[in-house]
Amino acid sequence: MKKIEIRKPDDFHIHLRQGDLLRMTVPHCSAYYARAIVMPNTIPPVDSVSTMEEYRRQINKIDPGFEPLMTFKLLKNMAEDEIRSLKKAGAIAGKLYPAGATTNSADGITDWRDIAGLLKVMEEEGLILSIHGEDPSVFSLDREKAYIPEILEICRNFPDLRVVFEHLSSAEGVEAVKEGPDNLAGTITVHHLLLTLDDVIGGALNPHNFCKPVLKGPEDRKAIQDVVLEGNGKFFFGSDSAPHSSDKKLQGAAGAYTAPVTLLLLADFFDEKGKLDLLENFTSRFGAEFYGIPLNREKITLTEKSWTMPDKYGDVVPFFASKKINWTVKNQSINQESL
Ligand SMILES: [Zn+2]
Repeated sequence: MKKIEIRKPDDFHIHLRQGDLLRMTVPHCSAYYARAIVMPNTIPPVDSVSTMEEYRRQINKIDPGFEPLMTFKLLKNMAEDEIRSLKKAGAIAGKLYPAGATTNSADGITDWRDIAGLLKVMEEEGLILSIHGEDPSVFSLDREKAYIPEILEICRNFPDLRVVFEHLSSAEGVEAVKEGPDNLAGTITVHHLLLTLDDVIGGALNPHNFCKPVLKGPEDRKAIQDVVLEGNGKFFFGSDSAPHSSDKKLQGAAGAYTAPVTLLLLADFFDEKGKLDLLENFTSRFGAEFYGIPLNREKITLTEKSWTMPDKYGDVVPFFASKKINWTVKNQSINQESL
């Protein structure tokens, strides 16, 4: 039975949601990850010290041992002082959503130049700028590509601002980060690493694999896989795990609930490619180094042992529902029936 012990990973992009969903997502995340960059597109959004502190309190109440890395949503009418206060209160990153790009983003930013003053303060304060890099005004499969010049211009205008191009989905996006300036990095999800658009529309429609940015073609997936297998330090793991109830999914909500299985699928991916030794850097080192936070000391052991993913957690159909998973982690509640 194959086994690997790695430094406990971090998830550099997750949607933990609120209420009942939060009670499900936090334990699923903390079973594998010591820390996670918690996205702020809640209702209402995390856009002030008080909303951020309240959200952190709710997360800590569920699992005091888990460390949420708090972010805020950049809004056009935000005061520069609020950014400074958010930093003082422990925020690590601000998220830029182009208006209308994804879930709860109608109040997003139409043109980043409208918030140039806020970006300047973020640069001064050493905050990370996290970007959903899609231009919602163009054809769906070209949205990421269309936003690349904007991201590069932000990097040029704010050379000391560290920028994360989130959930890369296209060969062009990967290339832009790879060849781009040192203050630019990118996160990669498990679903963009493993799937293509055919996993949504290639057979019967599978709404549970529908996410934003939309999954793309085989060449895009190959570019994502290649850069991960090169062990390039500008690319690190961010799940973008984003649960919706089955009802909402069937009404068209974008997002895959991957948290219960991301690390196990990553182990499987690297193992299949004969590069299991690269798993730790991708999940537990490169992201922390870019964010400038200490590496986790705790370890986690993954064992090659198969089990079957449940078809549902509560009212949420998870990623890889009812499928065989080849790896497991000791002492975790998600798949304990198989241990
Ligand atoms: Zn996201």
